[in-house]
Amino acid sequence: MNYTNIVVHYDEIGLKKGNRDYFEKKLVENIKFAIKDNIKRVLRERGQIIVSLEEKYNQEKITKSLSLMPGISSFLFSIETEQNIEDIKQASLSLMKNTNPETFSVDCRRHNKGFKTNSNEINQIVGQLICDEYKFKVKLKNPEIALNIEICNTKAYIGTEKTQGVGGLPVGSAEKMISLLSGGIDSPVASYMMMKRGVKVTFIHFQNKTQMTRSASKKVEKLVKQLSSIQGQSKLYIIPFEEIQKELIMKVPAKYRMIIYRRFMGRIAEAIARSERINVMITGDSLAQVASQTVPNLLAINDAVNLMVVSPLIGLNKNEIIKVSKQIDTYDISIEPYTDCCSFFIAKNPETKARMSEVEKIEANLDIDSLIKIGFESKILKKF
Ligand code: ATP
Ligand code: MG
Repeated sequence: MNYTNIVVHYDEIGLKKGNRDYFEKKLVENIKFAIKDNIKRVLRERGQIIVSLEEKYNQEKITKSLSLMPGISSFLFSIETEQNIEDIKQASLSLMKNTNPETFSVDCRRHNKGFKTNSNEINQIVGQLICDEYKFKVKLKNPEIALNIEICNTKAYIGTEKTQGVGGLPVGSAEKMISLLSGGIDSPVASYMMMKRGVKVTFIHFQNKTQMTRSASKKVEKLVKQLSSIQGQSKLYIIPFEEIQKELIMKVPAKYRMIIYRRFMGRIAEAIARSERINVMITGDSLAQVASQTVPNLLAINDAVNLMVVSPLIGLNKNEIIKVSKQIDTYDISIEPYTDCCSFFIAKNPETKARMSEVEKIEANLDIDSLIKIGFESKILKKF
């Protein structure tokens, strides 16, 4: 089918009365950026966004992009007609022509109340016409094909291919945040959860190249590339961590290494965040999933950081996290083999009940500021 338009419906934006304009504009910007090669223009109307397609467009690519874009509740590939019942009937017939469904329904939404025929009447008129012409059976619940008719401000849009979006708020409508991205399954999902709340995420990864095994950084770049297909342009800071870890291995007992590594990751992330005017840090922690993620340990880890720390996966089970990672296409990248720098010279039985007094005693032997400086100054910035 050669479509002319996409009708995009958005989610919670509708609830934000005073700021509605701001949210809508963000979503329009994001749509334009994500599918720019496929579209002529994007128009904001009350309640929906109308995208005009180029003659040649890539439907699969557009579908992939919009179905994960935060802020969109659904979108409909459609053909545009004038707002009169004859044109609507003709377009409906041509759309249903080469289909052969067992059952169908007509689902009209009339946004322009100035159009005199109401949505129930349109459903009946068009439904009857299709029954008479093609002998398809009407079924209102779960039909094989639903013909959607949208009577918008000035035109009507008709289509059968409607896709559900992920909802939430458009990226860029909330505060920016920095996300600790490890290369595992969890941290990309945590980042995505915040994108869905309107956050533009900047990523930071701590890299250890001294290990025999392949470094995680190529993987992390792939992950950021995939996540940037959801949120648009992204920044990734890579921090070479081996110098700092060498120092920590010498001075920190094995049981506490994981906690102290993470405290330094947090401190360096905070320095980067400050330079980016960011006040919030995202981590992929999930309660008790690994030894570092007990309550006393998370308290000790986050205590080193003067940013708001959000861990959106804290109450999720691993299988719930995996489900989202498959949905956002990060799972296959995350399971590629690599060695996490967190596991570098870590005790077999790491501390699970970190005590702050012990942490303070250990850190008294470290030159904290100069270690932060080493990390901050060796940062490598990549843009995707
Ligand atoms: P993930 O699957 O995200 O790696 P995990 O279950 O393996 O998480 P940990 O390795 O303990 O858990 O890490 C917990 C969190 O700490 C990660 O989700 C991430 O936010 C952060 N983190 C750990 N290692 C790194 C790293 N090398 N660079 C950046 N952040 C890291
Ligand atoms: Mg990990």
